[in-house]
Amino acid sequence: MRIGVLALQGAFAEHIAKLKQTGVDAFEIRQLKDISEHFDGLILPGGESTAMRKLLGDLHLYGPLKEMIQNGLPVFGTCAGMILLAKEIEGEPPCFGTLDITVKRNAYGRQLGSFRCISEFAGKETEMPFIRAPYAERAGDKVVVLSEHEDKIVAVQQENQLATAFHPELTDDTAVYEYFIRMIESRR
Ligand code: GLN
Repeated sequence: MRIGVLALQGAFAEHIAKLKQTGVDAFEIRQLKDISEHFDGLILPGGESTAMRKLLGDLHLYGPLKEMIQNGLPVFGTCAGMILLAKEIEGEPPCFGTLDITVKRNAYGRQLGSFRCISEFAGKETEMPFIRAPYAERAGDKVVVLSEHEDKIVAVQQENQLATAFHPELTDDTAVYEYFIRMIESRR
């Protein structure tokens, strides 16, 4: 199994380290030629969604990646990655727009925007670090809500797309990765 991690900006190195720890072959996607070889899944990391969406356009990665996601490539977006996938972003146009949720950016406020909590992910207690995180204010009919924190939606799945508002790559817990790997295996 090979997973490509979008490596334009943000926490991509942490995802790659975590995937390798889980026994998965991971590589960086930095430019168009990096996606010419086969890969089984894609991770959109946390970071700054505004910077990432600009770079996706400048580097001509936006169109091909969107098509791959629409064609069923398993994708996992964390934090800024969740924002990139969302069909609606409060106050701005969507980026990929493939995941039927409405997100609010920096939803916990700028000053107290970072915290850790333990909450359920797909029915399992999981550590969740939030860093200037979004949450989903709405989830469409096809979206399965996997986690809520204080009544806000913070993890979802819609078919081949998984998204978390928190950063599982910054914990020792591998539950979210195992979930994503199972999604990939069930698609192969
Ligand atoms: N606040 C960032 C954004 O809106 C997301 C933060 C993160 O990915 N940790 O893009």
